[in-house]
Amino acid sequence: MDDYVSQPNPHPSDLRPAIFLDRDGVLIEDAGLVTKLDEIHILPNVSETLEKLHQAGYILIIISNQAVVARGLLTESQVMELEQAVEDRLGMRMDGFYFCPHHPQATLIEYRVACECRKPRPGLIFQAAGELRIDRSRSFMVGDRPTDILAGTRAGCRTIWVHTGQHFAAPIQTDEELGAMPVPDCVCSGLPEAATWILEHR
Ligand SMILES: [Mg+2]
Ligand SMILES: [Zn+2]
Repeated sequence: MDDYVSQPNPHPSDLRPAIFLDRDGVLIEDAGLVTKLDEIHILPNVSETLEKLHQAGYILIIISNQAVVARGLLTESQVMELEQAVEDRLGMRMDGFYFCPHHPQATLIEYRVACECRKPRPGLIFQAAGELRIDRSRSFMVGDRPTDILAGTRAGCRTIWVHTGQHFAAPIQTDEELGAMPVPDCVCSGLPEAATWILEHR
């Protein structure tokens, strides 16, 4: 009981800044629905860049739509196993990996829901921020698709749009009408350039 008394009230300065990272097209090549180890190809200089951001005090969190689960191609635990393999290849551990297994046209009926976690909705960012005590206003969302930028903007983060290949691909399927894409705070070639911008603009 007394523990409640000694708990300090959360203060904004106790909260930490984070980099929310889309996975495919930011950390690894966007190879469509990634289900196998040999489909994982880390993009150039990503490991060193993540290490630099970590050293600068940022919490590193992956925010990923994993429609492979809704399609019945991988189970949720297989998605977690693949994530471990990605981190092995990166040579480091992320501070968080949050994914949405749902899809509006899911093959598996239990995943066919209008959820709050599929980007462009910001549910996963809010969840991660709550669980890991993150100050969203000092955080950044890095993604290669307009839906990443929309999710980051909705969560009150600054946004960086990386042009790594799929940035002009057809919009992902959503169950809402997407308006115009919000203007990202930075547009650049990939995560290394994004990190340079972040460290100059924090
Ligand atoms: Mg992507
Ligand atoms: Zn979801």
